[in-house]
Amino acid sequence: MVPFVDLKAQYQSIKSEIDTAIQNVLNNAAFVLGPAVAEFEGKFAKYTNTKHAVAVNSGTSALHLALLAIGIKPGDEVIVPAMTFIATGSAVDYIGAKVVLADVNPKSYTLDPTKIEAAITPKTKVIMPVHLYGQSADMDPILKIAKKHNLFVVEDAAQAHGSEYKHRRCGSIGDIAGFSFYPGKNLGAYGEGGAVVTNNDEYAEKVRMLRDWGQQGKGNHVMKAFNYRMTGFQGAVLGVKIDHIERWTESRRRAAELYNTLLAGVEGVVAPTQMEYARHVYHVYGVLVKNRAEVQAKLNNAGVQNGVHYTVPMHLHPCYAELGYKKGDFPVAERIAEEELSLPMFGEITREQVEEVVEKLK
Ligand SMILES: *Cc1c(COP(=O)(O)O)cnc(C)c1O
Repeated sequence: MVPFVDLKAQYQSIKSEIDTAIQNVLNNAAFVLGPAVAEFEGKFAKYTNTKHAVAVNSGTSALHLALLAIGIKPGDEVIVPAMTFIATGSAVDYIGAKVVLADVNPKSYTLDPTKIEAAITPKTKVIMPVHLYGQSADMDPILKIAKKHNLFVVEDAAQAHGSEYKHRRCGSIGDIAGFSFYPGKNLGAYGEGGAVVTNNDEYAEKVRMLRDWGQQGKGNHVMKAFNYRMTGFQGAVLGVKIDHIERWTESRRRAAELYNTLLAGVEGVVAPTQMEYARHVYHVYGVLVKNRAEVQAKLNNAGVQNGVHYTVPMHLHPCYAELGYKKGDFPVAERIAEEELSLPMFGEITREQVEEVVEKLK
């Protein structure tokens, strides 16, 4: 059996450090925010090469607060790629702003810069690229379009811990960014978690208030806000795990290279492309296959766990019927939804496991 991810193996490999960090939270009874969260925020800002990291209770909350911090209001329009996880849109929906979709590039699977300008209207305020599967979107042309039309760039970096664009860390390139620490993400908490990162002092200060009922000093509520604070246990776990992430990322990248080598020339399987500008961190190692349902059934029978990211493109979700899009509007996103197959990928995956997956896939 080859698992899709192996969170138990990862815990066993760092058990004593994690157990000590959890025990410290118990001893201090610092259950919400507190020193473990503050320490992790410092480490995460350094890791993403940004001035500020503000920890929150999920990636969706992080994106919501990122949009609020830059001043997005009901009725504003936010351009989102047609292939992403639903939460990219949810953050926009929370505000009462409007999701406007643009297709993704057929090679990188990230927001296609040549499709953005057609989606811009007088109400557009933000371009929200997603570093899908752990590969950076093509940021230079996106920043250029944003500058030309006076738009913000908010990075959805939920899958992109340590990912880079031209040697710049994802999350440090746009105006502000949101990360997720959902357990299955490359840097995963032991529960829900997320963070906003930015180089802008004012946005960071606003996010700190927005996550904590709009408090500026205790009891002084200067804005209507949320309870989006990170718990102490999550800060403690993440503070331990971030010291190991580079090792896990390098291991993922080696596994991806091996997959690519072994899959080269295998008929009917399209391996992912690492773009020349990117350091891909392979949150998802996704291939394209024409007869996905059949391949999945056979892999399951052979004991190779697998997944799909994602079965439905954004415009075809029932909840977005109101946007008025139809099948055929975003052909690249639709093709990925039909053909993408995610193979086992995690920091502890072995050469033998990758070989077994490819053997069974063939
Ligand atoms: C996971 C994810 C989110 C949401 O993060 P949560 O922590 O699950 O709320 C947002 N966008 C993308 C692209 C994601 O993969």
